[in-house]
Amino acid sequence: MRLMDTAATKLRRSTARPAFARWLGTTNAVTNTFLSAGSIPDLINIAGGLPAPELYPAAEIAQIARKAIEAHPQDTLGYNPVEGLPELRDALAARFSTPHLHLGRENILITTSGMQGLDLLGKALLEEGGLIAGQFPTYLGAIDAWRPRYPTYRNLILQDPSFDPVGALTGAQFAYTVPNFSNPTGKLVGLQTRQALVDAAHATGTWLIEDDPYGGLHYDGVPLPRMIELSGGRSAGQRYDGPVVYMGTLSKEIAPGLRIGWVVAAPEMIKALTMAKQGSDMCTSGITQRIALGALEAGLIERLQPGLVGLYRERRDALCAALEEHLSEWFTFERPVGGMFVWAVARDRDFDTDRLLPLALKEKVCIAPSSVFDPSETNRWAMRLNFTLNPPERLDEGIRRLASAVRTLIGGG
Ligand code: PMP
Repeated sequence: MRLMDTAATKLRRSTARPAFARWLGTTNAVTNTFLSAGSIPDLINIAGGLPAPELYPAAEIAQIARKAIEAHPQDTLGYNPVEGLPELRDALAARFSTPHLHLGRENILITTSGMQGLDLLGKALLEEGGLIAGQFPTYLGAIDAWRPRYPTYRNLILQDPSFDPVGALTGAQFAYTVPNFSNPTGKLVGLQTRQALVDAAHATGTWLIEDDPYGGLHYDGVPLPRMIELSGGRSAGQRYDGPVVYMGTLSKEIAPGLRIGWVVAAPEMIKALTMAKQGSDMCTSGITQRIALGALEAGLIERLQPGLVGLYRERRDALCAALEEHLSEWFTFERPVGGMFVWAVARDRDFDTDRLLPLALKEKVCIAPSSVFDPSETNRWAMRLNFTLNPPERLDEGIRRLASAVRTLIGGG
């Protein structure tokens, strides 16, 4: 058997192998670098969007998991419906319904976390070269998810006073937004702009994606209404059938290891995404779906939230103080009111954060350069810095190390 394997391997190696798909040549392994940076000794990772691991509710999740497996062996250990467990879909429909937004099970799809929702959206909506309107810089994972379709992009410059939402959405397959504390910029989309985008989506029929992993991480001010709620107000008591596609996840408010996310949308969209999911992973893990349901029923998100918000607010302030002290000579930034990131913009537009990254890694600090958040890769003058993973003193040390890398770059080293 072994011999045959070896012979077969030799035979294959002596001939040219079929090429990998063309889109792989357009991608990069940056996300994997961020996710695995934690295993490099003494490296301070301020690149990834990682939660504080000390806040993972390990004991409670273990207890919920044990109970779920014992009480529901078929759900947890068997295959499930592609759309997700009916009880979890019902619980999410109830959670997101408001006096203006009426949701039922048919409005909900369970996904293998938020990333899968983005992937399915590309599969269900994009032909090769399809047009996406988006806020740029934008989430790297979304750009990655849609890469195999070679999309074209149109920039939604929401803060521009002459921004014309109808013109911006017309002709696009969908518009992609992260209204709460965008990844990477940390920016909040204001109420008026939310309303204008919803109006434009209704006027043009363009799907409006509201990707909202960070909505619960709000440090100052009052949370704004979701765009799907603003859109729901138009359906006069009917089940939601509008153009907003809302995406959520448990990754930032409970734990990313659960890989549980959801899409809330018109039944027609849920059906299309379900077809795409069937050919993707067939169904999301029943164990983690049952854990998610147990966690929602136990009010775990609500109980964890004050602790998360308190810790992250302190860390945001620590990162901003460190930036002010060590980097403000070269970079400007705005203090975000929520989320996980500060977007630092170089005062000199010729500054190149792609060139800064290897020098930063030499100093044992990892940052996310702006080019990876821009489909055209032209923005090289900024970087994304995360404040949730590290305690204040590590953040300060990380920014000191980064300042040293900046000095080396400027000095031509
Ligand atoms: N959307 C955005 C904007 C994100 O920042 C993330 C996580 N970094 C996700 C979706 C997906 O996260 P997950 O797959 O862990 O739910």
